[in-house]
Order: sequence, then structure tokens, then C-alpha cells
Amino acid sequence: MSAEGDAPTGENPGAQTDPSLFDKVVNLCKRRGIVFGSAEIYGGFRSAYDYGPIGAQLLRNVKDAWWRSMVQLRSDVVGLDASILSPPQVWEASGHLSNFTDPLVDCTSCKTRHREDQLENPDQCPKCGSRDTFTEARAFNLMFRTHAGPVEGAGAEVYLRPETAQGMFVNFKNVLETSRKRPPFGIAQVGKSFRNEITPGNFVFRTREFEQMELEFFVPPDEAPQWYEYWLAERYQWYLDLGIPASHLRLRAHDDDELSHYSSGTSDVEFLFPWGWGELEGIANRGDYDLRQHAEHSGHKLEYFDQASGQRYVPHVIEPAAGATRSLMAFLTAAYRQETVNDDVRTVLGLHPQLAPFKVAVLPLSRKEPLTALAAEVLASCQLHWMCDYDETQAIGRRYRRQDEIGTPLCVTVDFESLDDRYVTVRDRDTMAQDRVPINALVDHLGSRLNL
Ligand code: ATP
Repeated sequence: MSAEGDAPTGENPGAQTDPSLFDKVVNLCKRRGIVFGSAEIYGGFRSAYDYGPIGAQLLRNVKDAWWRSMVQLRSDVVGLDASILSPPQVWEASGHLSNFTDPLVDCTSCKTRHREDQLENPDQCPKCGSRDTFTEARAFNLMFRTHAGPVEGAGAEVYLRPETAQGMFVNFKNVLETSRKRPPFGIAQVGKSFRNEITPGNFVFRTREFEQMELEFFVPPDEAPQWYEYWLAERYQWYLDLGIPASHLRLRAHDDDELSHYSSGTSDVEFLFPWGWGELEGIANRGDYDLRQHAEHSGHKLEYFDQASGQRYVPHVIEPAAGATRSLMAFLTAAYRQETVNDDVRTVLGLHPQLAPFKVAVLPLSRKEPLTALAAEVLASCQLHWMCDYDETQAIGRRYRRQDEIGTPLCVTVDFESLDDRYVTVRDRDTMAQDRVPINALVDHLGSRLNL
């Protein structure tokens, strides 16, 4: 695959946005060091992507925004960082060894593989157009298996986790006993997951290595329906608050035939990608399935004893499970815009300041002393508070455009007058308005404008 990503596949087609938007976003990612094809110098590796200097910061900001909303600003959720490698018993109990499969079909004419449930026409190959050339569907397990230690074989088998969620269930008792939390309370985790997807594609939308942001929220059984509704509203609002327009966001409840046998309700938060609606997050009312399964397989009681009421029960679980890398793609797509300014087209990533890789860029008008020394002083004072970029090359207009393209909300220009009056110019990404601000009030000024 080229680093430019695959052509969009027809995954979950629906309403359409500008079809060229996909290529524009992918090109910007490559041009500005946001996302690179993995192992590009060896021709690329379709399963995974590398996040460049700007993308690494953006991804970190997406995860931090989630952590802030789900852990930092709440007193009923605690964090966890569980291992990626885990023994087969975990996946036996969770049901992943037997059930975590996708239906795989091969086209006998062009030898391509497809997920049967994603075919627009189940009898026609989307690659070569042949009819009735598919093999019978086979259940293909999506988990990556490897072995621990020098000897392969039984007893050494381990799996790369296909979701972070099981870490929370397996540690339920540990957390309950050490955190002084009681239901309703949650355990949150952000981290890598791995799935041997049959058809990775649509850039970072579907990859074999990706990052998830998951919460397992444990509640008294009779409170599960109201907490399910609560988390639907909370999670939908999170995307809106970070700048996804309501026109491109929807909550879609699963039909009965889509529901897992243990779930009494699942809804997806979906974003309108250039190829149609795609899932960003699944929110499920999982009942007591997970804790019961692990209790049965491990022999440990996974329940809560409420001393006040004398009641013992297995908590029910509400699970909002989001993708960090997939939401990054939604945030990028929603933020991308091109506009004409004085017969010139400028590209802007109108990212929410919380997500913007750099909050501030410091730009001296010349790369000579003593201007650069003053710019360094300004930069140092800003860096104490935010991620900042510094750029002293090229014409100032070009430099503003570069910052617009990576979503920097505010630029601070240090010019020759600054040497005399110790004022700098603050330039706004969206309005392009410029204000003169005294250096000794700059940090406060920027702080109130960013309003993080
Ligand atoms: P899909 O139907 O798209 O395969 P899923 O329903 O299997 O997704 P979940 O198991 O609910 O996904 O995982 C929670 C979230 O993790 C998804 O909403 C998505 O954001 C993210 N995710 C899952 N698989 C991938 C993947 N292969 N690449 C990137 N993100 C993923």
C-alpha cells in the first residue's frame, strides 16, 4: 500500500460528504508529519501507521482529553494500565477464543479476501466484479497469537489483547479492594489493542494495531438502564464539545440481530466520514456477563458486598468503548477546511484548542539577533504552560499558513518594534485578527484566549 492510504472502501455507506476530503486529509497527514505509512522505506506495511511529530502530539491530546473527562474530572472513575500480553485463560473466559471472529470469504476469481458482513452485494466481488465466485464463509479469529519464552507450543501461548476491556474485569477485585470505590464506579484504560482485521483500510479508521479508550462502569443491577442512558448522552456530548458538528455525529441503537446475546442495549456513536457513517465508539449495557464469566473460570468471587443493605451482588457493566486513533481521524476530517483569502487558498485545521498539537507558535520576524533572543525569551515563558512551536524561516505569511495547516490556534509574532516597546502581535488562526499585547501580560492573555 502507498503511504497515501487505501482508496476509501464502501464500509457502511450512507450519507455522503465531499469524497475528495479523504484524499485531502491523508495528503495533509503525510505532508505535515501527522501520520506516516508504517515501514514506508520498505514499501509500507498495511496493518499499521506511524504518528509523526504533529500526529503523536495530536493523538496524545485526544487521549488526554478523554482521560480528563472520564477520570480527572470525576470522583467515581479510577484509571488502570494493564498488560497487552495475556494468557489464553482470559480469552477463554471472555468468549474471544471461540467467538471473536469475522466471516471471511475468498473470491475464487481474483483471489481477494473480504468480510462477508461488509459486502454491499453478498454475491458479487467488489474487486473484480465477478458473480458467485465466493467461497463458503469461514469464521476467522481476529486475535494475534504468539508465544512467551523460548519454547513454542502448549503452555507458552499468549495473545495480544484485542480490546483493553478484559484488563478491567480481571482486575475488578484488585481495584475494589484497593481504591475504596463502590458501585456505581468505573475503571478506565487507554492503550493499544490488536486485531488481525481481514480488511484493514480507510487510512487509520481500521488498522491491525490501534488504540482504544475504554471505561467499564460497574453499577447495582437495577440501576443499569439509567446509567446506560447517562453514558449515551455523556459520550455523544464529548465529541460535540471537542468540535465535531452535530450534522456529522449520530447515536445509532443496534437492532436486535446486531446485539450480543448478553447485551440488553448497545448504541454506536457514529461520525459521517467521507465514505459514509462509521463507528467511533460502542456503548453497551453488558449485564453481569463479564464478571460472571471470569468468576466461573477463575474460581474467584467477583461481586460486591454492600454492608449498609447486607446485599451481595454481581455488578452490571456499562461499557463506553472508543477508539483513539479512529477518533483522531474523525477530528482531523471534521476540522479540515479550505478557504479563499485574497485570491489565495488557505488550508486550516480548525481543531479545538484542547486537541491542537501546538497551542502557540512563536515567530520572530527576522532570524537575526537581537530579535531571536527576545523570541527565545517569549518562547520559554510560553513553553512552561503549553506545547509551542518555533519557526524563524520564510516569509511571515507562509509561516502563518503552515501553522493554520496544523491547527495552531494562536501565533505570536516578535517584530522590530517589540525590541523597543516589548509588545508582540497575537494572530488568531480562525479570524486572522491581530492584536498587540505587552510581553509581561502575554501568558495571561494567551491563557484566557485558549481557555483550555
Ligand atoms: P468495527 O465494527 O468497526 O469492527 P467494533 O464494533 O468491533 O468495530 P469495538 O469492539 O466496539 O469495535 O471497539 C471499540 C472501538 O475501538 C471502536 O468503536 C473503534 O473506535 C475502535 N476500533 C475497533 N477496531 C478497530 C480497528 N481495527 N482500527 C481502529 N480502531 C478500531
